[in-house]
Parts: sequence; C-alpha cells; structure tokens
Amino acid sequence: MITCPWCGTNYTSFQPNCDNCGGSLPLPPEVVPAASSVSLATPPPPPRDVPRQAVWHILSSDGWAISGLVFSLLGLVFVVVGIPLTVSLVAAFVGLPFGGLGVLFLSGGIPVLVWRYQMAHSTVEVLREGEATVGEIISVTQNYHVRVNGRYPWAVEYDYEVGGRLYADKVTTLSRPDLSQQPGSPVYVLYMRDDPEQSTVYPSPYGYYGL
Ligand SMILES: [Zn+2]
Repeated sequence: MITCPWCGTNYTSFQPNCDNCGGSLPLPPEVVPAASSVSLATPPPPPRDVPRQAVWHILSSDGWAISGLVFSLLGLVFVVVGIPLTVSLVAAFVGLPFGGLGVLFLSGGIPVLVWRYQMAHSTVEVLREGEATVGEIISVTQNYHVRVNGRYPWAVEYDYEVGGRLYADKVTTLSRPDLSQQPGSPVYVLYMRDDPEQSTVYPSPYGYYGL
C-alpha cells in the first residue's frame, strides 16, 4: 500500500500523483535498493509535485506565523480606529495612543509574517527540489510553551551527512509524528545541493493528517 506523503490518502497500486491533492507519491518499495532502511517510503526524484496548499499548511502549524498574524490584525484594527479619531481631533487623546499602538503592532507583526512566509516558501522549495539522503532522528519532543489551535507542536530533530559533513536540523509539526519516528531511527532527509543546511524530512510532516 502506498500512502500519499502530503495528505495521507492510501493507494493499493503505484501512480505518480495523488488524485486528492496532486502531490508526487513515493516510489514503490520494490524500486528501493536493499538497504538497512527497510520500510522507508522513498522520495520520488526531484522535481516533485508539491501541493500548492503546502505553504499554508506549514504556516498554519507555525506558532511564529500565527503570533505575527494576530499582532498584524490587532495593529490594523487599532490603526483603523485610531487614525480617524486623531484626524477628526474630536478624540485625539484616545486616537493618538490607539493609532500609535496599532502602528507598533503592525511594525512588529508584518516583518514576522514575511519572515515566516519566506521560511515556509523555502521549505516547499526543499520538498520540491531537494536531494534525498537517509539521516537519523535525534529527538522527538512536544513543546508545551506554545499552543496552536489548542494543540502543542512537536519538534523532530534529526541529523544527516552531506559530503562528509554532519548537519543537524529540526522540523515542527502539529500532528503527532508517527511511531516509527523515534530517536535513533532512520528518516529520509531532503536538502538543497547548493546549500545543505536547508533541509526537511520526507514524508512531509506538514500533511493534513489531523489538521
Ligand atoms: Zn495527496
């Protein structure tokens, strides 16, 4: 059975793309050369079809992006309320602090949103174009300091080797990592050939599972 790494739809036989979300499906296990990694779904060769919604799924499970959005929206409301009050001079003593706070929130929130959007966008680039290698999971932890939609995000730390150098990175996700992802177990890592520090794991942890 083949499971879509992007949305979790199951297929009994191999096909290149998912009917549900359009993403590239992993190669059937028979194609995989016999290795120590027995049951890992092999990523298809790049470029992969990554569903267009992937950026939004990454952002929707990102605590930074959500805080940035909340601050930007608050800022917008404060500006919209504060500026007319100030300009009309009727209630400038209320409008000025309101507008000022709004501008402050906006100038904090928008750069965070832009930063996280760029991060999510480069993660999608790695999923689309990255080279595949087998790395190892270092730790799987749940972060109780941050809550997103009533749930605590998971962080999966992993390391991988490119050209004799060891790299470490982590991914965060709202869905509980599957049980095979335990410290010490192998995991497929995708990385950019010209910038190996940019990486993510495969299958994508940002699927719609449980979202
Ligand atoms: Zn799919």
